[in-house]
Amino acid sequence: MTPTIGVFALQGDVGEHLRVLTDLGARAIGVRRVAELDQCDGLVIPGGESTTMSKLARTFDLFEPIRQRIKEGMPAFGTCAGMIMLADRVEDGAPDQETLGGLDVTVRRNAFGRQVDSFEDDLRFAGLDGPVHAVFIRAPWVEDAGPGVDVLARVGRGPAAGRIVAVRQGSLLATSFHPEVDGGDDRIHRLFVDHVVAAGTRTHAET
Ligand code: GLN
Repeated sequence: MTPTIGVFALQGDVGEHLRVLTDLGARAIGVRRVAELDQCDGLVIPGGESTTMSKLARTFDLFEPIRQRIKEGMPAFGTCAGMIMLADRVEDGAPDQETLGGLDVTVRRNAFGRQVDSFEDDLRFAGLDGPVHAVFIRAPWVEDAGPGVDVLARVGRGPAAGRIVAVRQGSLLATSFHPEVDGGDDRIHRLFVDHVVAAGTRTHAET
């Protein structure tokens, strides 16, 4: 089965995700409308600006439909701002900041930004052999994770050492960093694509 994987495309680094997913053999489509969401077996929420993403998702009537699909078990993968979008709780968010939720975590927005705007590290990542090169750009970290959440990676060095930066809970995967950027690592997208395939066929197919 060739999975159809959507990339939330109202804001953020959409093109990079589409490229990596296409290179891995998925049918990758930008999602701006419900009709596109309906075709998706899984959804990537990219890096960008989480407050803007929430507002645009509301404006374009995508917010509740995505939330509903996530509740129904559609696999989703959030990177950076996308991680914030999938988190149930946000520290240092904008006053009216809304998230899609689903991941039982508290994320701290712009957590690294207090020390440095961007930061790179080679991380140990559960389930992958060899380090993952991680690029953090005004990234969040996971301040606190509920008991059902698997921690996949933590920062290895520097002032943020030990901070949780990759998690998985059921169908939801999230990284604080950007595996989609140049010099990133496609193995995490591969994990997600495999997960989408294993999760089975789409429930809302229109095509
Ligand atoms: N700081 C951004 C936010 O709060 C996330 C940055 C990113 O996605 N690179 O949404």
